[in-house]
Amino acid sequence: MQQIYLVMTAAVDINVIKAESSKLKEMSLENIPFGKYFTDHMLEADYENGEWKNVEIKPYQPLVIEPSMASLHYGQAIFEGIKAYKSPNGDAFIFRPKDNYNRFNVSAERMQMPAVPEDIFMEGMRMLVELDKSWIPGHTDHSLYIRPFMFSTDHLIGVRPSETYKFMIILSPTGPYYNAPMKIYVEEKYTRAAPGGVGFSKNAGNYAASMYPTAMARKAGYDQVLWTDAFEHKYLQEVGTMNVFFIIGNKAITPSLEDGTILAGVTRDSAITILKKMGLEVVERKITTDELIDVYKSGELKEVFGTGTAATISLIKELKYKDFIMEFNVDSWKVSTELKERLNGIRYGTATDEFGWMYKL
Ligand SMILES: *Cc1c(COP(=O)(O)O)cnc(C)c1O
Repeated sequence: MQQIYLVMTAAVDINVIKAESSKLKEMSLENIPFGKYFTDHMLEADYENGEWKNVEIKPYQPLVIEPSMASLHYGQAIFEGIKAYKSPNGDAFIFRPKDNYNRFNVSAERMQMPAVPEDIFMEGMRMLVELDKSWIPGHTDHSLYIRPFMFSTDHLIGVRPSETYKFMIILSPTGPYYNAPMKIYVEEKYTRAAPGGVGFSKNAGNYAASMYPTAMARKAGYDQVLWTDAFEHKYLQEVGTMNVFFIIGNKAITPSLEDGTILAGVTRDSAITILKKMGLEVVERKITTDELIDVYKSGELKEVFGTGTAATISLIKELKYKDFIMEFNVDSWKVSTELKERLNGIRYGTATDEFGWMYKL
């Protein structure tokens, strides 16, 4: 028998239909690949006639869609990535979910999609993670990846903003992200984002557009591209789907956000805060390929790494710009190693959460 009950929150009723049995019985949560397995439940809500309704947590299951569904054609689709962790005493925490909630609605506005109310996003996520709490792996470097997303659902292939949308949250337990030091190709032909475009929003289309250039870089023996600006291919933006940091002398430099071409990463913000705490001067500003080569040649370029929820801190061992190759001995790096340790300490509950980042279930 399915158990059905209703939970009242501030402004929204979330209907909960529990799965009859848990898939967890048949699997181990150790070393599972990223994004492949999903928990027992999901959250689903519909936007119709200007309001959100049918907010429901129910067994993870396929969706029935029509071929004419608008998002399949015109790509009004956005998402977020958040992680939940288990502390040594078994308590469950979500890392900075409110920041992702705020960013989700920034993305929604740029894509001409409705905002999702805070209680549906935050309380819905809390209830869903609570229900599937046993899916949060307890092993080191493991976590539960939370994927909120929204897409247009009108059955109409005319080009206009959809009148109906679906908001969903699914959960995926994940083992250590494959995190070997990366070889990076500095991209000078293709562009990820231009001023006035959609680079600051976490929409599905940005990812689709990055796949061809990334495949070209892979063919040339590189893991990812370092994106540069659309006009001169001179100002550095992001590395793959991560924000990028350069340790130059005793400063940490990361590209500034004012052009709207860079995704304001929650990990980026966390790294800035922790690096400052570690005593480094952190500067958000424009940085060029020429400067990068100069500081590499002078020996001032100490460390280069990417930041993002999925991979956390990813070290870069090689950068190729035109015919110039910059190589690094990542084994000797101190700043990124300490940054990663401090960040992980907070997330796994082994260090004090002095910034108030952990949201307890
Ligand atoms: C999601 C994303 C990031 C990282 O953001 P986090 O909040 O740290 O996960 C960076 N760049 C792009 C393009 C992204 O989509």
